[in-house]
Amino acid sequence: MTFIDQSLGILKEADYKITGPRRAVLSVLDKAKTPLSAYDIQEHIPASIPINVVTVYRVLDVLEKLNIVHRTHTKEGYVRCDFEGRNGCHYFAICKKCGKSYEFLMGNCGIKKIIPRNLPFKNLEHISEIAGICDYCNLES
Ligand SMILES: [Zn+2]
Ligand SMILES: [Zn+2]
Ligand SMILES: [Zn+2]
Repeated sequence: MTFIDQSLGILKEADYKITGPRRAVLSVLDKAKTPLSAYDIQEHIPASIPINVVTVYRVLDVLEKLNIVHRTHTKEGYVRCDFEGRNGCHYFAICKKCGKSYEFLMGNCGIKKIIPRNLPFKNLEHISEIAGICDYCNLES
């Protein structure tokens, strides 16, 4: 199943409508090789679909909540999840030079065991990143 079909399924299951803007954001993220900001995403959406940055942010909020996209920090932006609906810890390796990101699953990374028990939070989730130089950039230099 493609990323877009899978994502539309997750949206429907969570009772979200399949709107033009949601479809458009998914299709931009489907093709992206590096994390994109909301502004980058808006620029890539065809002019025939009128959508402003506020709407893009709203769409991204929903997609992030459903784990269809992740937000990354080494390169500030949003990236599609390669393991939609899969349990376990979703990790990213991100190239500091070109920003290319690679997602990998860690099963259960064990971080929950070392989080202090008295932390005043519930339903903690986490995304972890490691940063370095990808093989492609390494060959170039
Ligand atoms: Zn993921
Ligand atoms: Zn690179
Ligand atoms: Zn974990």
